[in-house]
Amino acid sequence: MRVRLIAANWKMHKTVDEALAFWRAVRGRVPAGVEAVVCAPFTALHPLAVERREGDGVALGAQNLFWEEAGAYTGEVSPVMLADLGVRYVIVGHSERRQLFGETDETVNKKVRAALRHNLVPILCVGETLEEREAERTEEVVRRQTAAALDGIAADDAARVVIAYEPVWAIGTGRTATGEDAARVARTIRGVLADRYGAGVAEQARVLYGGSVKPANLSQFLAFPEIDGALVGGASLEADSYLQLLDAAN
Ligand code: 13P
Repeated sequence: MRVRLIAANWKMHKTVDEALAFWRAVRGRVPAGVEAVVCAPFTALHPLAVERREGDGVALGAQNLFWEEAGAYTGEVSPVMLADLGVRYVIVGHSERRQLFGETDETVNKKVRAALRHNLVPILCVGETLEEREAERTEEVVRRQTAAALDGIAADDAARVVIAYEPVWAIGTGRTATGEDAARVARTIRGVLADRYGAGVAEQARVLYGGSVKPANLSQFLAFPEIDGALVGGASLEADSYLQLLDAAN
């Protein structure tokens, strides 16, 4: 049985005080059947880690990492540093990082491997641009991104990876994929896993949808058993809205 996951991606939002206020409003209110993850900016991770208490019911996530453990890499944060804070999840290969910060299938793969080596759960983001969608290349792009990100990863580890299908044209635009389309791509992703690792891993791995998810439209995705939750940007910034998403997923 796959446990539903609602991951908040705060992106470059929230001061420390704002992050703490959110945490205090949400902790202890996570429904039993859902996993809640807050992917905060690096500056908020330590204060949230200090604030966190057993029973809060919220896991901490980062939005990026570098693949080396330590060294002369000015401005980077390593998986060792994240694990040291009790961070459990890390977003890898978000389309904003691919488009704005030059991440490639190869660097995404290095980051996924580094995360797994340090017992962090990667939330691997895949998804097509509008241009690729219009050229009917969605499946091909998603297949390529998924396969490349998993290069050199063993079956046990692959089963732990969370894969978020985030069509680039749906991010922050108010437009979403239909539930059917998202479910079809989720099946494509599981097809890649099945080809490489067998049906067991394909069954175990969680696949999320992301892109303009809100409390009012979440059920359109969760109606499909292929979709195990959501990666949410804008609608995860307010505690009330995030709690509504958790309730809708329960
Ligand atoms: P929005 O929910 O704001 O569209 O962002 C989606 C996203 O990029 C989550 O990673």
